[in-house]
Amino acid sequence: ALQAADRVVDSLCPYCGVGCQVSYHVKDDQILHVEGRGGPANEGRLCVKGRYGFDYARHPQRLTVPLIRRADAPKDPRAATDPASARAQFREASWEEALALAGGTLRHLRNTHGPRALAGFGSAKGSNEEAYLFQKLVRLGFGSNNVDHCTRLCHASSVAALLEGIGSGAVSNPVMDVMQAEVVIVIGANPVVNHPVAATWIKNAVKQGTQLVVMDPRRSELCRHAAHHLAFRPDTDVALLNSLMHVIVEEGLTDTRFIAERTEGFEAFAENLRGFSPEAMAAVTGIAPETVRTVARLYAKSRGSMILWGMGVSQHVHGTDNARCLIALALMTGQIGRPGTGLHPLRGQNNVQGASDAGLIPMMYPDYHPVGDPAARAAAAALWGVAPEALDAEKGLTVVEVMRAAEAGRLKGLYVMGENPAMSDPDATHAREAMAQLDMLVVQDLFLTETACLADVVLPASAFAEKTGSFTNTDRLVQLGRRALGLPGQARQDLWILTAMAGHLGLDWRAYGATPTDCDAAAGRVFDEMRQLMPTLQGLSWARLQREGAVTYPCTDAQAPGERVVFTDHFPRPGGKALFVPAQLIPADERPDAEYPQVLITGRQLEHWHTGSMTRRSGVLDALEPDPVALLHPQDLAALGVVPGGLVTLQSRRGEVSLYARADEGTPPGAVFVAFCWFEAAINRLTNPALDPVAEIPEFKYCAVRLRAG
Ligand code: SF4
Repeated sequence: ALQAADRVVDSLCPYCGVGCQVSYHVKDDQILHVEGRGGPANEGRLCVKGRYGFDYARHPQRLTVPLIRRADAPKDPRAATDPASARAQFREASWEEALALAGGTLRHLRNTHGPRALAGFGSAKGSNEEAYLFQKLVRLGFGSNNVDHCTRLCHASSVAALLEGIGSGAVSNPVMDVMQAEVVIVIGANPVVNHPVAATWIKNAVKQGTQLVVMDPRRSELCRHAAHHLAFRPDTDVALLNSLMHVIVEEGLTDTRFIAERTEGFEAFAENLRGFSPEAMAAVTGIAPETVRTVARLYAKSRGSMILWGMGVSQHVHGTDNARCLIALALMTGQIGRPGTGLHPLRGQNNVQGASDAGLIPMMYPDYHPVGDPAARAAAAALWGVAPEALDAEKGLTVVEVMRAAEAGRLKGLYVMGENPAMSDPDATHAREAMAQLDMLVVQDLFLTETACLADVVLPASAFAEKTGSFTNTDRLVQLGRRALGLPGQARQDLWILTAMAGHLGLDWRAYGATPTDCDAAAGRVFDEMRQLMPTLQGLSWARLQREGAVTYPCTDAQAPGERVVFTDHFPRPGGKALFVPAQLIPADERPDAEYPQVLITGRQLEHWHTGSMTRRSGVLDALEPDPVALLHPQDLAALGVVPGGLVTLQSRRGEVSLYARADEGTPPGAVFVAFCWFEAAINRLTNPALDPVAEIPEFKYCAVRLRAG
């Protein structure tokens, strides 16, 4: 029988960037069940993760006491990471001892080797306030800009192209605008799996008459609702998008007035398109020229066309070029700046937008003010009470650069809060070896993750439902997550851990008023400090957030709602005009060959979240998908002599994993798809760390592998 809750707490889903609002039904400090609330992004809906993925917070493997590596347990990057054997490498410690060792050693390393010998990875799953404090800790306490987070691994290239082309890295229109669009393009994204509630709005729009175009080498469930599925060959995005734009220019379908009044650089851009006719590109993309022409006309002629994209676009060595093409497509047709149009990179984690906005990136302060800009440095220094010279003017290291610096011995200490690079970094074996070399690795998390297994000090942190904070969804909607549960054992509020760590690095952050178990008021103080560096949040105070629960930014007036649709009359670039940036064909860094003939594509799956640390400890979700699987076309399975459910081994030049084969007609022949959530088959041991030269995002979506049965 259903138990009655003694409390109902309104909060948010901890998983994807859709930002669904939930109500936690709580009894005896346990969540009994979760209900969808009527939030702007979900209107009561939840997917399987939001509805059932909450019991990880009370999992028996939850860390409840600080841990220090035992002197007789050397770090072994190739050792098993199962919690029982990993736990034996550590001894329990008091908070005082753990923080003194972590903070004291980091301070010593900074004083001995210089500020750039330290780095920090914050979390896109933490709140805006945690992200802001974390970057402030690195910039003031470590003394460099070596701070980054998983945005480097998901949409860094999209953001780089958007900042360059239209002056803002955030979306132009919310997902819900698909209901007002005549045409919707979804490219390099599988929202049914990764943004399920957003996918329901796309399907509803189709029911109302919107024409859906899916562009993806894989055929996802969304294709059943699509008017066109352009299954282009993996890695040929620029060829396809340039051929679409070639048609638009050739057939006079551009919006000449929009181009003249709102953009610059079109002539050179159009000139570059000359060689990209659909006929010339068909051999590259595998898409029939007439299909390209049909879709080009559809998109350009409609009253409102919207583009949504995911990491199939961004995670390539030409990820920035892919996004530049999408931006140019919207600009040349004037399909931006109105409801039902625009550009929407679907954000992965629930706060990857907010964490980036709050400055958790190595080249920018909050609100994307470059660290190299003296005015931005002076503003941050004034707010933080230090001289501008105390802040490093050099851009810091990105995620993959941090690992390379550790491997080279230049980086000595790393503080990781709520991320799991041992699973999420490309060429993960290498990343693990690099982290094992550090003099001090501090990991703040809920579980002994694969990264925590390599730590010197492990700090037990707070789960989503155990803290209060603001989170910014993919639509630029800032929403309040509220504390519903107490903390188990000696686990502590993340905000308190950050202020305590700051104390050991010579900073006095007691004025925030964080306590070990209650940081609700402290979060409000941090938010109101943070927005002093963020003009886009000027109309949005903590008090307003508590009152209204959700406010869209930019919001410059405390009385007015935020702007759902931006770029209506100008772009936030010098002169107010958007910029066309041409793109050439650049092949993937590692193409298939005789030795490694298949293409590996990595991503996520519906029931599990990123590196699996939460969802694989959620009873229902783990029961639905308990074992690692590789998705292969039935014809490739037959050629291997493997039946569905049989074992298959994947090998790249960097490593190998074995997992169960699953037949999937949506995966193109010659490719194999694996999610990166399986610790026992960590697929990022195989991926290629080659980087997009602009955004330094790794090429997760393409590397060469070979397969064998068993
Ligand atoms: Fe949570 Fe995303 Fe599912 Fe909504 S769609 S319930 S935010 S995982």
